Amino acid sequence: MLTLIEKILFFVVLIGVGYLTWCNFGNMFKAIARGPEPLRWNKFFQQLGVGIYTLIVQPALWRKRPLTSLIHAIVAWGFTLYILVNFFDVIYGFIPGFKFFPGTWLGNGYEIFVDIFSLLTLLGVAFFLVRRFIMISPALVIAERVQILPEVRIGMRRDSAIVGFFILLHVGFRLLGASFEVAAHGSRIWQPVASTIGELWSGMSHEGIVIGEHVAWWLAIGLILAFVPYFPFSKHAHLFMGPLNHMLAVERPSPAITDKIDFEDEELENFGVAKLEELPQTEILDAYACIMCNRCQEVCPAYVTDKQLSPAAIEINKRYFLNGNLSDFVGGQETEKPLLEWMLTPEAVWACTTCAACIEFCPVGNEPMIDIIRVRQDRVMMESDFPKELVTTFKNMENNGNPWGISAEDRAKWAKGLDVPVMSEKQAADVLYWVGCAGSYDALGQKVSQSMIKILNAAGIDYAILGNEETCTGDSARRAGNEYLFQAMAEQNLETFKRYKFKKIVTQCPHCFNTIKNDYPQFDGNFKVINHTDFILDLINAGKLKLNGNVSGKFTYHDSCYLGRHNGIYDSPREILKKLGVDLQELERTKRHGFCCGAGGARMWLEETEGKKINLERMEDVKKLDAEAVVTACPFCATMLNDGIKDEGLTETTQSKDIAEYVAQAIT
Ligand code: SF4
Ligand code: SF4
Repeated sequence: MLTLIEKILFFVVLIGVGYLTWCNFGNMFKAIARGPEPLRWNKFFQQLGVGIYTLIVQPALWRKRPLTSLIHAIVAWGFTLYILVNFFDVIYGFIPGFKFFPGTWLGNGYEIFVDIFSLLTLLGVAFFLVRRFIMISPALVIAERVQILPEVRIGMRRDSAIVGFFILLHVGFRLLGASFEVAAHGSRIWQPVASTIGELWSGMSHEGIVIGEHVAWWLAIGLILAFVPYFPFSKHAHLFMGPLNHMLAVERPSPAITDKIDFEDEELENFGVAKLEELPQTEILDAYACIMCNRCQEVCPAYVTDKQLSPAAIEINKRYFLNGNLSDFVGGQETEKPLLEWMLTPEAVWACTTCAACIEFCPVGNEPMIDIIRVRQDRVMMESDFPKELVTTFKNMENNGNPWGISAEDRAKWAKGLDVPVMSEKQAADVLYWVGCAGSYDALGQKVSQSMIKILNAAGIDYAILGNEETCTGDSARRAGNEYLFQAMAEQNLETFKRYKFKKIVTQCPHCFNTIKNDYPQFDGNFKVINHTDFILDLINAGKLKLNGNVSGKFTYHDSCYLGRHNGIYDSPREILKKLGVDLQELERTKRHGFCCGAGGARMWLEETEGKKINLERMEDVKKLDAEAVVTACPFCATMLNDGIKDEGLTETTQSKDIAEYVAQAIT
C-alpha cells in the first residue's frame, strides 16, 4: 500500500523512535536500579504466566468500582489487541493486499474482533474522559490537605488527557483507515463498524479513498510512533509496568512483613528510608506501575476520615518527582529533598493503621504501606523524631514487656483462681495458649482470656500458658518502625519457646497471631500458629464443644484487618456465629472490604487529633444495621468499637464482645 518514499520515511522515523524509546525506557530502568535490593529478575520467566494473567484478567481491578473496572478492562484489552493490530497494519503497509489468514475462520474472527473492540475502546475512552474532565469524579481528586508536588495537580489532568486523546485518535484513525479500505474493496460482513463508516465515502473518487487510507494509516501508526518514546513518562506505562510489578513482587507471608534488618551488618549506614534512592527497587517500580486510579485512597481509613494521608499520593508524587528530576537521579546524584518534604507529611506517616486495604485494592500490586513503614523506621531509629506517645509505648514495652507499662510480674494476674496450667510447671503441652498483652492486662482482653480458659477446659485440651515468662510479641514496635525493639522482643520470646515442648500455639489476638506466624520465621521461629477463631471452629466441628443455644439476636461481625486482609481469615468467625444460631448480618464494608477500627500499625497508642475518628466512621456501618451485637476477634478492635458505642450513645442497644465470650456463654 505504501509508496517507496513512504516506506523509506517509515524506516527513518522508526530508527529515530527506536533510539528515543531505548533511551527513555533505559532511563526508567536506570532510575529503578538506583534503589537497593534488586528486582527479582531471576523470576522473570518463571513468573511470566503471572504477568500475562494479570494483563488479561486484571484480578485486583474487579474488587472495586465494577462498572469502571469493566470499561477499563475493555480499553485495556482493546489496547493490548492493538499491539497485534499495529504489527499487521505495518505489514499491510509494506505488502499490498496483505490480510491475516483471509477468508478463514481465523482471519474473519480477527477482523470482527478488531472491528468491535475498536468501537468499544473508543466508547470506553470517551467515558473515562467525560468522567475525569466533565463530571470530575470525586474519586479521581486528591484532597487539598494531602501533600502533593505542585506539578502533580496539573500533571495528573494533563497526563490523563494525553493518554485519553492518544488512544481516542490512534484507534479512531485506525478505524477510519479500515473504513477507507472497505470503501475501496467493498463492504464486509466481518467489519460491520468499518463498513458502516465506509458508507460515508461511497460518493468519493477512488483516488480520494486511496489518499484517505494513506493519511489514516500514517496518523494511526504515526501516533503510535510518536507515543512510544513518551510511554515511560506517561501513566500509560502501567500497561507494562503493572504486570511486571506483579511478576517481580516481593513475596511476603502477609502484607506488613518488612524484611529483617541486620543490625550486625557494619556496612549498613541507614535503617529505614529517608530519600527516594534508599527505597528498594520494587518500591521505585511501584511509581511507574501506578495508574493514578485512587482506588487505594478510596479505601484508606486515614484518607476517608480526612487525615493528610493518601496512599495514591505517595505513588503519584514518586512518579512526578522522578519525571522532574530524571537526569540527575539516573546520573547518580543524591536527591536533595528527603521524602518527608514532598512524598508525604509526618502527620501522614503516623496516620497509617497498616490495614493493608491500599495493597488489597491496588490493581497493579503497589505497596504504599511498606513505604510508610520504611519512613517510620528512619524516623524512629535514625532521627528519633516520632510522636511522643510512642516514646512511652516503646519504654513500656522495653521495661515491662507490654505497651501498657503495667508490671511484668502482673502478667498472669487475670488467671488468678482459674487454675490455669503454666509451662514452667508443666514443661510440655499440646497447646501453648498465647494470651498476649491485651489478654493479660486490658480489662476487655482479660474477659476474652477467661472465656478461652473455659473453652479449653470444656474441650478437654492439654494446654498451658507462659505466665510471667510471656512478653509482648513486638507487633506495635515493628509496624511503628522500631525494628530494634521488635527484634529484641522476638528473640526473648523465641528463647522462651525453646524451653518448652508444644505442638501448636493458639492466639486470641490477630496481631500476636500475625507476628508469631509471619514475622518470627525470619528469626528461625517456625511454629504452627492458630488463631482462636479457627481453633474454636475446629473444636465445634470435632464435637468437643456442645453449644446450648443460649446466644441469640441480630449480630454482626467486624473483620479485624490482621485476621482478614493480612491472613485471609474471613469464614471461621462467621461459621462459629452461624453455629451459635444468631441472626448474622453483614456490615456494609465487610470481609476484604472491611473497614479498619483505627488501632493497627501502633495507632492504638496514638492520639487521633486530625479529621474524624476512624472508629466513629466504622460505627456508621454498625448504626445502619441496627444490630444488637458487633462481634470482634481482636482486642484492639474490641477497644475501638466499645469506645465507638459509648461515643455514639448506643450502650443501651448495642454491645461488642469477642467471639470467644459468646462461645463461652453458649457452653455454660
Ligand atoms: S495501610 Fe491502610 S491506613 Fe495505611 S495507607 Fe494503606 S489503606 Fe491507608
Ligand atoms: S497505588 Fe495502585 S490503587 Fe493507588 S492510585 Fe496507584 S494504581 Fe491506583
